[in-house]
Amino acid sequence: MNFRALVPVQAIDNRIAQLEHRKLQLPERPAAAAAQRALQVALAEAAKRKSRQSEISKEVNRLESRGKDLDVKKAKYETQLKSVIAMREVEALQHEIAGVNAEHSALDDAELLLLDENETLDKQLLESHTTLPSLESSAAEAAEQLAAAVAAADAEIVAARAERATLVAATDAESLALYEGIRARMSSAAVAEIAKGSCGGCHTSLSVKEQAEMKKVADTPDAVCPYCGCLLAVLMFFWFVDTAILTSAGVFKDPRFDNRLLAVGAVLPDIIDWPTGWRVMHSVVTSIALLALVMLVSLGRKPYRKLLLGLPIGTFLHLVFDGAFTSAQMFWWPIGGWEFSAEVLPVVARGWWNVPLEIAGVIALGLWWRNRQRQQL
Ligand SMILES: [Zn+2]
Repeated sequence: MNFRALVPVQAIDNRIAQLEHRKLQLPERPAAAAAQRALQVALAEAAKRKSRQSEISKEVNRLESRGKDLDVKKAKYETQLKSVIAMREVEALQHEIAGVNAEHSALDDAELLLLDENETLDKQLLESHTTLPSLESSAAEAAEQLAAAVAAADAEIVAARAERATLVAATDAESLALYEGIRARMSSAAVAEIAKGSCGGCHTSLSVKEQAEMKKVADTPDAVCPYCGCLLAVLMFFWFVDTAILTSAGVFKDPRFDNRLLAVGAVLPDIIDWPTGWRVMHSVVTSIALLALVMLVSLGRKPYRKLLLGLPIGTFLHLVFDGAFTSAQMFWWPIGGWEFSAEVLPVVARGWWNVPLEIAGVIALGLWWRNRQRQQL
């Protein structure tokens, strides 16, 4: 198992989650919803007015037919009036006619009110005929903008998923399954590195004893932060530091050579290029530039030249022992173009092979240290 290869997978998983969240929170969404709502409100209003108009027309018809009935009734009473003689009957008929007249005039008043209302509705409907098309077009435009934004977000997600697939190819199935299981039940980090003595997931500092125990169980399911439960990736370190020190000791034969910056230079390429995804430090051009820079700033054989030289020598030796020259694009960057190589770092690609390299590094360093102690005696 190799947990370090999970770290970039987790980074891309976090980015995919962010992209998906952003897709749901696109500002085009509320804008499209508001435009659609305004259109629906206007359409509903127009429909309500039309239905009110048809109610009015029915009611007007009813009133008119009732008016005609009253006219017939009144004509009948008036005919009867001509033929009756008794005063009481005359009065009774006149009373009926007055009643019919009163009802008719009330009907007429009601009809007038309805016709007034109908006229107002006509005006309002005419207005909405002029505003509806613009509401329709702005709703369509907002919907189009939303669709374009969703498509752009989808494209980013697809690209991120493709990137994830290449990163996953550099992991082993067991580590990946372990990571995915932890990630599914944890909202915080599922894998982290030990940074400055703290878990990179929960930032709780780990005691020296805890860190030593973590090194012992590195890249097994037991390498879990005791505080947050995330997998802890232990830095691949010894191989590069040791090979760099041993080589410089062999080449320069100078026991006073300062190994501190050499050790930094030997791990610097992975420290910079791994988390950033750049391949700058894995290029021989960068190491040459670094060497030139050191020579330049230490012109006149300043006493710290020997110390500073350790840095470019360290990065050169990293390239050698990393096998960086096997990728021409990475090794000669930016001579073949400014784009970074998409290949995974050699240290990630090696996976399990890092283990014997690390052990070899530790043994070699021990032997060299013993020799050096003997020489100094
Ligand atoms: Zn933790």
